Order: sequence, then C-alpha cells, then structure tokens
Amino acid sequence: RIGFENVSVAYGSLVVLDSLTLTVNPGEIVALIGPSGSGKTTALRTVAGFVRPSAGRITIGDRDVTHLAPYDRNIGMVVQNYALFPHLRVEENVAFGLRARRLPEDIIRSRVPESLAMVGMAAYAKRYPRELSGGQQQRVAIARAIAIRPQVLLLDEPLSALDAQIRRSMVDEIAKLHRDLPALTVLYVTHDQSEALTLANHIGIMRDGKLRAFGDTQSLFRHPPNRFAAEFLGRAN
Ligand code: ATP
Repeated sequence: RIGFENVSVAYGSLVVLDSLTLTVNPGEIVALIGPSGSGKTTALRTVAGFVRPSAGRITIGDRDVTHLAPYDRNIGMVVQNYALFPHLRVEENVAFGLRARRLPEDIIRSRVPESLAMVGMAAYAKRYPRELSGGQQQRVAIARAIAIRPQVLLLDEPLSALDAQIRRSMVDEIAKLHRDLPALTVLYVTHDQSEALTLANHIGIMRDGKLRAFGDTQSLFRHPPNRFAAEFLGRAN
C-alpha cells in the first residue's frame, strides 16, 4: 500500500502538491493523469524519495518512509527515458540494484534471468543497451526495477518515448507482469488515457497539485464526478 497523507511540496512560492491525500491499495494499479504541470511526477517522486515533502506523510505498507533515503524504501521506478548504464550488459544492468543491496550471489544468479523472463527479454542478457530497440530497453528498465522484488513499482510515463504500436504491446506486457506479481502495488503516471483505461484499477485526476477526481476506472470514465473531470476526459484523446 502507498499512502499520501496531506502531502505538500512547494518550490519557493510555487505550490506543486497541495495537501495531497491518496491511498493505493496493495496489488492495485493506480494511474495518475491530469494536465501538464499538475504535479503528477512530483507526487511519484515523493514516494521514490527524490523530493522531500514540505508537509505531510508518505507511507509504504505500514512504514512511514517520509524521511527514508530512496534506497531504503523498497521501491522500483521506471521513467520515460530511463538511462540504462551503457557500459554494462543487460544482465549487469538488472543485477545492479541487487549488488548495491549486497544480496548473495546465488540469489542474483537466479533473480536476473527470472526478472528478464518476466518481460520477455531472457534471450538478451548478454547484449549492451545500444544493441536494443527503445521498447526492449524499456523492458530491461522494468526488469531492473522489479529485480529487487519491490513492494511498490513507480512508472513515470514509461512508454511515452515509444511509437504507438510498441506502446500497445508494452501495455499488454505490463498487464502480464502484474498478473505474475499480483502483490505489486503500482503507481502509474501517464498522459495517455487509453493506457490508464487499460491498465489501472483506479484513476486519479490531478490539477494544480490537488486530486480533483478519484475512482475506479470504469465509473470514473462513465460518470466523471465533476465538470473538470468530464472536460479533461473529453478533451484529451
Ligand atoms: P507533465 O505532465 O508535464 O510531466 P506533471 O503533472 O508531472 O507535468 P510536475 O512535473 O510534477 O508536473 O511539475 C509540477 C510543477 O512543479 C510544474 O509547474 C513544474 O515546473 C514545477 N517543478 C517541478 N520540479 C521543480 C523543481 N525542482 N523546481 C522548481 N519547480 C519545479
């Protein structure tokens, strides 16, 4: 479970998150959508630990992680242009976080191929990132994020740099991954409503650092709870 309890973030006088309260239940995929600049990425980064809230609390499971370093939070994260380490083979990229956490070598040896297999990349273990397509690189980035078996997976527009056809197959890939790891709690930032509709159990719509609408995916699309939500869902796409 991920909990935001009255989380605020400000840069000088610019309030980017305004007392955000939101719970993502265990095993759910929640998509955050909303206009550019509404605070979606910032919300994700507070969970990752890259942005410190000026007020409020972040919890993962039963733990208050607000003041924990990113490495101690048991999260995996994939961003739009995830830089794989170019000088490391695919398998070493995936092993990186495991080594950083000093996991035993026999666990690393089984975990790396297992994680690559989950995203259909087992055959590419010996390649270098430059020898992969964009979609394949993003699969490896996902394998790297899940290799540590995190409680929480944070995805920040993971597919937006890919072309439409590859994006659709990656959506299927992420859905399958979630079936393989049903306990994994996922927070997914996207500007693509069809991605949100396909993948998410619940959707939150943000504006000006606030959650303006939240609900299960089908009912939110069918019966937007307010005018902003209706306009936003109608306007984009
Ligand atoms: P997009 O859909 O365009 O990615 P977003 O909803 O993810 O937008 P954020 O990236 O969270 O929005 O940014 C929210 C606001 O905070 C923006 O106005 C942005 O300019 C501002 N902001 C983000 N990071 C910083 C920073 N480090 N310093 C100052 N302002 C920042």
